[in-house]
Amino acid sequence: MRLQLVRHATLIVEYGGRALIVDPMLDDAGARPAIENSPNPRKNPLVALPVPAGEVVRSAEAVLVTHTHSDHWDKTAAELLPKDIPFFGQPEDEAKFSGQGFTRVQSISTPVTWKGIEITRTGGQHGKGKIAKALAPVSGFVLRAAGEPVFYIAGDTIWCREVEDALADFRPSVVVVNAGAAQFLEGDPITMTADDVVQTCQKAPPAQVIAVHMEAINHCLLTRSDLAFQTEAARVIDQIAIPNDGDWVTLKSQ
Ligand SMILES: [Zn+2]
Repeated sequence: MRLQLVRHATLIVEYGGRALIVDPMLDDAGARPAIENSPNPRKNPLVALPVPAGEVVRSAEAVLVTHTHSDHWDKTAAELLPKDIPFFGQPEDEAKFSGQGFTRVQSISTPVTWKGIEITRTGGQHGKGKIAKALAPVSGFVLRAAGEPVFYIAGDTIWCREVEDALADFRPSVVVVNAGAAQFLEGDPITMTADDVVQTCQKAPPAQVIAVHMEAINHCLLTRSDLAFQTEAARVIDQIAIPNDGDWVTLKSQ
């Protein structure tokens, strides 16, 4: 497998001989207002795509969306992707995608196999307490295919029981975590902090952890350099990749 961070949580994943696009957010920089009630109020996305949106979608043979917050699924993605592309997401979002004209939407409640790739849904907590409830549901996904490393996309979640269980149950070799420590003016972070990323690394020592979801949306306050500094201090830097937008990540197991 190989994997490209396009921007924020948008990935191109080449896996099992196929190419999937994950959480496509393809709006131009500044196309949307800042997240309401959040610090650092600047228009989103904060940065441009590394390549034109049309080029990003061109290689995609299927779409996988963890949840439909606008930093994971936006208007430009809905317009640009072909309506008959195989489309996978959580059951709660199926009606939304179908309503947008997509004709091959399949919810992942029990594992689904597409072209030899088994996709299993995992859970998560998009924050704590009341905030997590308000932002739910969110999903992660585990991909498995013959001859490929087990690949876990945690989605928008903090370090929590669901993530710990997924690491124990699936023993992934490659894990993508959404960092950024996103937060509102009040309450705890709703995506992984540096400590959460460190926890993930420590609980899955053989796995390579790829941290994304930084420096593209106004309320994600944890930067790549902060995360690099803190993961180095925690001695997990060798296990982690912190790609820039447009970077292809080299996977250790390959
Ligand atoms: Zn997000």
